[in-house]
Amino acid sequence: MTGNGNARKVVGLSPTRNQSFFGRDIVSVRQFSRDDLIYITQIADEMRALVHRVGATDLLKGHILANLFYEPSTRTSSSFIAAMQRLGGSVIPIHGVQYSSVSKGESLPDTIRTLECYADVIVLRHPEVGASEVAARYATKPIISAGDGVGEHPTQALLDLYTIYSELGALDGLHVAMVGDLKNGRTVHSLARLLRSYDIRMTFVAPEILRLPDALRQEVADAGRPVAETERVEDVIADADVIYVTRVQKERFEDLREYEAVKTYYEITPELMARAKSKMALMHPLPRVGEIHYDVDDDPRAAYFRQVENGLYIRMALLAAVLGKA
Ligand code: ASP
Repeated sequence: MTGNGNARKVVGLSPTRNQSFFGRDIVSVRQFSRDDLIYITQIADEMRALVHRVGATDLLKGHILANLFYEPSTRTSSSFIAAMQRLGGSVIPIHGVQYSSVSKGESLPDTIRTLECYADVIVLRHPEVGASEVAARYATKPIISAGDGVGEHPTQALLDLYTIYSELGALDGLHVAMVGDLKNGRTVHSLARLLRSYDIRMTFVAPEILRLPDALRQEVADAGRPVAETERVEDVIADADVIYVTRVQKERFEDLREYEAVKTYYEITPELMARAKSKMALMHPLPRVGEIHYDVDDDPRAAYFRQVENGLYIRMALLAAVLGKA
């Protein structure tokens, strides 16, 4: 049993080169050093080359992933399935928990302890903050968080980082603006935390009721990174190297009238993009529901579908690494 994945879990494989991934849980970006990030992005590069060259391999043949989703997902869930299958492994997909014993009242620890009898690694998406850490305490096999409520989404942050680097060829020295629902958006929470490891200036762009939580803003500032805030995209559009746009998280609002008041607060249009740098990346974790106009899609700086593709390579890299096969 491990808390934040500090001890190696029992996966029945001999250790290979990166000790900080083998047998470990992936539950928060806090656990990664800069070296870990270099390591995992290098493996992702190898996975990209492999997929382009031959499509698939049998590296994880005989290994099974349990893909346990208590919240809706398109990209995260299908990219983990595709990643496992391209590596030659197989998947137990549990996406409609209403059809599983969860609907009979089974607890998360019991569900986890059951699935690890069948699988070598468990991917978990859950509506409660900290659920992955709870699961990791009970599991002897690695738990990979696929997002816990408004908490974190560590694998999304890894693919976001990988995308920024792939698009711009650098991380240090950049100005990253995060736009939208910074209060509830777990992808922003993980990305802002992860970017603390780099010499990056961050601007948080949100209306008052969707501002980044104070504690997180303080974490970024405590790491010595310059932080600014504004309500207007116009204030950052000409200077940002990355504009990371997010959806207003309707499912987190208790009062839907508040959601209605802010749901169309931002829209990135071709007119706005005309004022952006010629070399920059427009990103979005998706799904988008109006924050980026479809007419922007053909702009070479629109990186969100390349971001989706990168998710496959990062998740292939993570699965291979936690199972000691990277
Ligand atoms: N797909 C991302 C997530 O699961 C972003 C979103 O849903 O807005 O957090």
